Amino acid sequence: MTEKSLTDSYISEITENFRTVRGNIDAAGGNGKVTLLAATKTLSADIINYAIDNLGLEYIGENRVQELISKYDSLHRENLHIHFIGRLQKNKVKYIIDKVEMIESLDSYELAEVINRCAAKICRVMDVLVEVNIGSEQSKGGVPAQEAKEFINSLSGLENIRVRGLMVIPPISTSEEYEVWFTKSHKLFSDIFGEPGSDNGALLSMGMSESYIEAVKCGSTLVRVGSALFGKRDYPAFPEKPE
Ligand SMILES: *Cc1c(COP(=O)(O)O)cnc(C)c1O
Repeated sequence: MTEKSLTDSYISEITENFRTVRGNIDAAGGNGKVTLLAATKTLSADIINYAIDNLGLEYIGENRVQELISKYDSLHRENLHIHFIGRLQKNKVKYIIDKVEMIESLDSYELAEVINRCAAKICRVMDVLVEVNIGSEQSKGGVPAQEAKEFINSLSGLENIRVRGLMVIPPISTSEEYEVWFTKSHKLFSDIFGEPGSDNGALLSMGMSESYIEAVKCGSTLVRVGSALFGKRDYPAFPEKPE
């Protein structure tokens, strides 16, 4: 697969894709309640900026530190919310701590301590989501579902991080199985944070290109969509090795 470039035909393709994905989110009951975050790995800053300037894109997720750093200065960032969504190595936190609004992939106490320390250094509080390995897959990051609550409690002494909710990446599934994983995730989330979208502002990040409709039906408040917006790209399937 070749790298995407901003040709007229690509522009009409992604324009249509944004309309379709938003329509599907609304039709699944997510109207006004669900944040559409574009997973922008492998895309040039030009393409991302086009979507920001013309297609109303406000949230992006990057999952590689190096790639985020190399695009960062070129992005139109005035109204842009940047999340880190990939596996994160402790020694790379310092490169993104001042660049992202949220880290969605917190899954160990050691990583939390490093984020806390780096955030304290620049006098900010970093919003994080706790990644839960809902399918108990060995190949994936994330804390086990049955440990999520205790893990979150263990973070309460870290003053420079704020746990905002959960992020899940379920096993690749059929549509019906996705609903089972997402229902389970939603229940776990409600047990810890209360209903999604309620006053506490807690976030439940679940749903990707193959599963965002099911995720929205099951109470997702943030979907992370890549290929359904920008077309298929040449990136490795999950699991990825940690950045
Ligand atoms: C790439 C990526 C996505 C989006 O994947 P698509 O299948 O292209 O929609 C979502 N979440 C994470 C963590 C990703 O790395």
